[in-house]
Amino acid sequence: MSGDNKEIRFRGVGVSPGLARGVIHVVRDDLDDVARYHIEPSQIGNEIARFEAALVQTRVQILEMQQKIAEAIGAKDAAIFDAHLLVVEDRTLIDEVLRRLETERCNVEWVFQEVASNYAETLSKIDDPYLRERALDIQDVTRRIIRNLQGKAPKPMLSTAEPHILVAHNLTPSDTATMNRQLVLGIATDLGSRTSHTAIIARSLNIPAVVGLHDATEKLESGQHVLLDGYTGVLIVDPTPETLSYYGEIEVRKDQVTKELRQLREIPSTTSDGRHIVLSANIELPGDVEAVSENGAEGIGLYRTEFLFVNRDTLPSEEEQYQTYRRVAERVKPNPLIIRTFDLGGDKLAVGTVDVGDELNPFLGWRAIRFCLENIDIFKTQLRAILRASAVGNVKIMFPMISGLEELRHAKAVLDECRREVGEKKTAKMEVGAMIEIPSAAISADALAREVDFFSIGTNDLIQYTIAVDRVNERIAHLYEPTHPAVLRLLKMIADAAHANKIWVGVCGEMARDVALIPILLGLGIDELSVGARSVPRVKMAVRSLAVPECQQLVNEVLGLQTSSEILARCLELATKRYGDLLG
Ligand code: PEP
Ligand code: MG
Repeated sequence: MSGDNKEIRFRGVGVSPGLARGVIHVVRDDLDDVARYHIEPSQIGNEIARFEAALVQTRVQILEMQQKIAEAIGAKDAAIFDAHLLVVEDRTLIDEVLRRLETERCNVEWVFQEVASNYAETLSKIDDPYLRERALDIQDVTRRIIRNLQGKAPKPMLSTAEPHILVAHNLTPSDTATMNRQLVLGIATDLGSRTSHTAIIARSLNIPAVVGLHDATEKLESGQHVLLDGYTGVLIVDPTPETLSYYGEIEVRKDQVTKELRQLREIPSTTSDGRHIVLSANIELPGDVEAVSENGAEGIGLYRTEFLFVNRDTLPSEEEQYQTYRRVAERVKPNPLIIRTFDLGGDKLAVGTVDVGDELNPFLGWRAIRFCLENIDIFKTQLRAILRASAVGNVKIMFPMISGLEELRHAKAVLDECRREVGEKKTAKMEVGAMIEIPSAAISADALAREVDFFSIGTNDLIQYTIAVDRVNERIAHLYEPTHPAVLRLLKMIADAAHANKIWVGVCGEMARDVALIPILLGLGIDELSVGARSVPRVKMAVRSLAVPECQQLVNEVLGLQTSSEILARCLELATKRYGDLLG
């Protein structure tokens, strides 16, 4: 945080480009003033009874909320409320309140607030992430208990009827996916990172977002005026007239660039020396399909179907999935729709009706193809729906998180079984691909390439697993480096294995939208780039400005370099020469 005369700046990471101006809505249950008044000794019993009733009521509310969230988005998200339940049962806290009621003879909401906030403050100062989280739990539950003592209804979590910029400690992908774009002008969170699914969805929804602001929710108050800069990751409270005019100019320039980029819509994505690079869009929700052709993408390179589970407690039936896939396929045809089978788990959604349990390392756990191969009914229902949709449009299928050949063969065998069930006549020939996003798959890409029609490289996961950097942990975000020499070597192995086996290879991770890195991808011979629809025009502009031989030369050079920063510097050099404007 920094400040001059009036304005205060919070710095984080810009994860969804754009500017937003307006009042903020901080999502924490703000405490209303708690009055202090003396009570007679004869009233102490009454205060204790009120306190006990409020604890019971709070417990019931937390259990209800936990149930609702488990049904809507899964047990894993709901498990955070276990810590809240522990607070309601915390004997140290309760005994201290009872003791101070006797000694101070004040109303119980005041005594409770004093005790709870001292307790939370002590914990928050200890240098231990677990205890700091506990402090936040205590603050949350304290607000709830006090509102119950005051006879007020609990405050709803994310709602306000006026357009606002939402400031929250953290948001789940489903919080973001269900946001009202008309009301939420921008998003700012204490936690988060560039490749978290919350960030990816914010970009899809075209909501400017800044994450990793650390303690913004503690320092900001609802109603303050801010300017949120999703390009560079700054949140400015009470911006000065100079700041506003500076950003006004930026807005004009960005509008101009957007207009110019829009003119590229019908122009092919071809390098300056004539190589066509297929440029597709990633979508999360069927509604995102509008933006695909609007931005000049040649189809959908990644449909993240697990977002069908947002806000629901039943599994989508085969018919419902078929209708959804069919509609999307029809909208983009004759261009392809690549449907990625469910990648549930990690930071995404869990299945409401299937308990995936708590896992210590969810990103290394029971997710994606691993989950589907063991929940064969869920998997087959999806595969049948995809096969049926293949008869209607240009549908391709790909499996996420393939770690080796046996897993791929297993998934393909289930697909064949489903094809027989649906009946050959009701399906069309469909390309089958593997996502390459685990180092083991990259290293055995030559074997995998012989048994699929294409590869799609999931760089978000490939980088996280290669460097062992949790992609949603903002503390280690600086270590998440797409230009790490090890990542480049893996990318080269994948691209070479694909081409040696005469299959095409695309990149659908966020690396493909980073225009500074496109020279590397082109130099490696990547055939397709798939990015959020709104990034398509910028990527097209970059592709059109580059020639393949210069990119190949760059790759030859950077493969000999030993550090991420040297490699990045070389990429930036070429990118700046060819399209400096796009980098700003
Ligand atoms: C990836 O890992 O790069 C990818 C595209 O898949 P997701 O971001 O959905 O994990
Ligand atoms: Mg992935």
